[in-house]
Amino acid sequence: ANSVKSDIEIAQAATMKPIMEIGEKVGLMPDDLELFGKYKAKLSNEALSRINRNENGKVILVTAINPTPAGEGKSTVTVGLGDALNRLGKNAMIAMREPSLGPTMGVKGGATGGGYAQVLPMEDINLHFTGDIHAITTANNALAALIDNHLQQGNELKIDQRRIVWKRVLDLNDRALRKVIIGLGGPVQGVPREDGFDITVASEVMAVLCLANDLQDLKKKLGKMVIAYNIDRQPVTVSDLGAEGALALLLKEAVKPNIVQTLEHTPALIHGGPFANIAHGCNSVIATKAAAKLADYVVTEAGFGADLGAEKFLHIKARSAGIKPEAVVIVATVRALKMHGGLRKDQLATEDIEALTTGFANLKKHVETIESFGLPFVVAINRFVHDTDNELKVLSALCDQYQIPYAMTEVWEHGGEGGILLAEKVLKLIDNKQSNFEALYNIKDSLEEKINAIAKKVYGAGQVDFTAKARKQMQDFTAQGWSSLPICMAKTQYSLSDDPAKLGRPEDFSITIRELKPSIGAGFIVALTGDVMTMPGLPKAPAAMKMDVDENGNAIGLF
Ligand code: ADP
Repeated sequence: ANSVKSDIEIAQAATMKPIMEIGEKVGLMPDDLELFGKYKAKLSNEALSRINRNENGKVILVTAINPTPAGEGKSTVTVGLGDALNRLGKNAMIAMREPSLGPTMGVKGGATGGGYAQVLPMEDINLHFTGDIHAITTANNALAALIDNHLQQGNELKIDQRRIVWKRVLDLNDRALRKVIIGLGGPVQGVPREDGFDITVASEVMAVLCLANDLQDLKKKLGKMVIAYNIDRQPVTVSDLGAEGALALLLKEAVKPNIVQTLEHTPALIHGGPFANIAHGCNSVIATKAAAKLADYVVTEAGFGADLGAEKFLHIKARSAGIKPEAVVIVATVRALKMHGGLRKDQLATEDIEALTTGFANLKKHVETIESFGLPFVVAINRFVHDTDNELKVLSALCDQYQIPYAMTEVWEHGGEGGILLAEKVLKLIDNKQSNFEALYNIKDSLEEKINAIAKKVYGAGQVDFTAKARKQMQDFTAQGWSSLPICMAKTQYSLSDDPAKLGRPEDFSITIRELKPSIGAGFIVALTGDVMTMPGLPKAPAAMKMDVDENGNAIGLF
């Protein structure tokens, strides 16, 4: 009967506990919580500084193979593993990203887990939650307005209006806004120029919020963001414009992490939500660190496959926050492996041992990548009801053959109970296996060397091609003193390569670096590959077309 209930039906039937009670479980007092109704709260600044004196809990990173468009259940497994650890009597918390309305209204659905492994209240979390993404959109666009006003008022900073790199944002998929002309209509309507919109979760403001250690650090990082180049081709920053104070003020509440609960009342911090394909793909450092101060075990997730989210978690977030994961969970599904083995996307529910066996190569590559980081890991086989016994037997045998530790995971169907096996294996890993975490590149390497290291070691590319533009940018960025920053790759999530059609484990392929973008505030250089878009479009049948609201204000069709 479980399998017929939708995520939202399960969520709506659940009884939540007041968030005060959830906070108490991890030592938070009523005054530590700033309530948004009964079931959502932000942690106060006082609470955040008080818990800073606590010992650090152990961080468990959840990642995955290259997914199907529907996702392979990372959020679901993250939630279920947190619940399972609690069932085993451990003091565990979850730290996750907040969903963007782009995928929610578009193709992928929400990001609050699924089945009996969900965070609540799922409707609120998936819609506007506590307004953090709104605040980020506003801060981003306030800056855009200040830049255009600066041009209008005489352009004292001598900004070259053809070299403004700061874009406007919106938290929706709207391809019509990718390229726009603004300021039309004559002298009082502003200075006409070409502009464009990104989705909010790709904004550098989102990245800065997620990588900041506190409000003051946030302000400092906002000040460093490059907004344009002047007529001498020198970078112009937010602090040249003098706008970091206003931006930080707009974000002073958004920077506090949000606490909610799972279906099984495990406390979860949900905060920040950069995409992992076009941004760095991890929830905020503030949330992960706070969870580690409050609990003995923190289960956190990084977006898409280990080629994207985990690579960026390990090279960008872990480095800047000083976090060291103790264990990694790699989520795999039979259906995605069959897709990697060549089965058509509309056939994934039918048994196909051959496709599964071929597609296993994708999982194997991600396992090798995590091993090369020196991290203990276990594969979570996220079981779907249509997986056949035969398929699961073959997948287990393949794991055994390559000595890949795995756990059958049924948290979608059974909640925390279905994650006990996984939780036990994770605990054993943490107790018995030393995490020898080491980055795959030296931060002092050149930009080209770092990009090469990621493309070759993590993606398995044979060669990296740089466009003339990208080469020129590497030179310019190095001259600016930006070469010692980590790289944030922008790449399709569907393939290890930059071509979404190359499934499985492509070999000897080349990756094209089309363009670079300095995110000096966030502290990384974005390298854009292939034709990955920073403003997605909607599909033919958007998820929004199934959504509705009843006369009592209850959401319908939100997954
Ligand atoms: P990811 O975090 O990897 O993108 P999610 O956890 O958000 O994936 O899951 C994507 C969708 O798949 C959700 O709607 C979820 O309910 C569904 N899902 C996840 N695991 C299972 C499963 N074992 N069986 C059926 N549906 C699942």
